[in-house]
Amino acid sequence: MNSSLLRPVLFLAGSLVALAAPASLAERPAVRASLAALERAEPETLNEQARICEIPAPPFEEKVRGEYFRKKFIELGLLNVRVDAEGNVLGERPGRNPATRLVFSSHLDTVFPAGTDTRVKRHGTILKAPGIADDCRGLAGMLAVIRALQDGKFATVGTVVFVATVGEEGLGDLRGVRHLFEKELKGQITHFISLDGTGLGAASGAVGSNRYRVTFEAAGGHSYGQFGLVNPIHALGRAVEKISRLEAPDSPKTTFNVGMIGGGTSVNSIARTATMEVDMRSVSATELEKIDAAFRAAVAAALKEENEFWAARARNPLARVTNSRTPVTAKIESVGRRPTGRVADDAPILQAVRRADAALGIASRFDASSTDSNIPISLGIPAVTLRSGGDGTGNHALDEQFDSKASHLGTQRAFLALLEIAGIAD
Ligand SMILES: [Zn+2]
Repeated sequence: MNSSLLRPVLFLAGSLVALAAPASLAERPAVRASLAALERAEPETLNEQARICEIPAPPFEEKVRGEYFRKKFIELGLLNVRVDAEGNVLGERPGRNPATRLVFSSHLDTVFPAGTDTRVKRHGTILKAPGIADDCRGLAGMLAVIRALQDGKFATVGTVVFVATVGEEGLGDLRGVRHLFEKELKGQITHFISLDGTGLGAASGAVGSNRYRVTFEAAGGHSYGQFGLVNPIHALGRAVEKISRLEAPDSPKTTFNVGMIGGGTSVNSIARTATMEVDMRSVSATELEKIDAAFRAAVAAALKEENEFWAARARNPLARVTNSRTPVTAKIESVGRRPTGRVADDAPILQAVRRADAALGIASRFDASSTDSNIPISLGIPAVTLRSGGDGTGNHALDEQFDSKASHLGTQRAFLALLEIAGIAD
């Protein structure tokens, strides 16, 4: 940040909200110096972002990148650095009052399978590689924030536990952050920040999701010789057709998607099995339950139709089709469940983010998303996901890229928000 810009912003923010909120810690000379240092360090933060990206971290294979973080945490002087039973990497920075314990995290995993080329290409302000934004940006930002705290020798009121989490994406189903709240730091976390995504927004709402793998099964057989047997692929097709016509409200935003299908034996076989993977999301738990029930009803209706269709034909002797003794069945397995929730607009954690935003001239914006914060939010623990600056496009795609124009603001905001939440011990 440019300090000639900072002063009028601070003055404005201070005079407008003096009665409503305490002044930002950004007014303190030590904090101001660290903010300036973070801006100067941004080229190195971008180099770090590229280094991290080139260490692959496919789903369920975050170990190598995790080891890099374990070493970094030690090098940066964090205490009690360890890898927990799920694979999360933790490092602590003790505060004066252990009753406050803030977890500051970013996720190690990407959506890309092993073997994906993650070498980073740079053109001007653009960095290009799968995973470069989501979440190598957050991971590099976390390291920059730790360095700024150490270099500035800040003593915080609350203890800060930095965590590089595993399993945020897809079928990882938040396994890393769940483990933190259920085992590793159970009952100890009072505040939670996730640094994830790009831009300067923040998320205070948790989009919940229910994900299923549905396996349709029947006897299977010859496509000509046993014509008349119920067909799992046909049943799946009937289900997809019904799901594609489900009704979901625009607000609260609720969505559904059949994302994967598979199955079959050969072109001239009636399949034994067919599978589909379905994802449904909503910011409202009630709407998520409704769409979930409608999805289950669609599967049940599809089975009924497929079974009844062939049973009716088999009853007609003129049709001369094979009678299905084994009806087609469907097994619905949960492969992901992310809880919903929302942090109250006037919660102190969001006020802290607003103070940081105001000091940096950022217009505060809170939306809902699906991140590591879903777990604390659903548990009623104050949490926020901060976007980590810059501008990302093509997330979860091979042409993912990150534009680093003014990206230092994301790191500065993360640092300042952390101080606002953890507090500076005088
Ligand atoms: Zn992410």
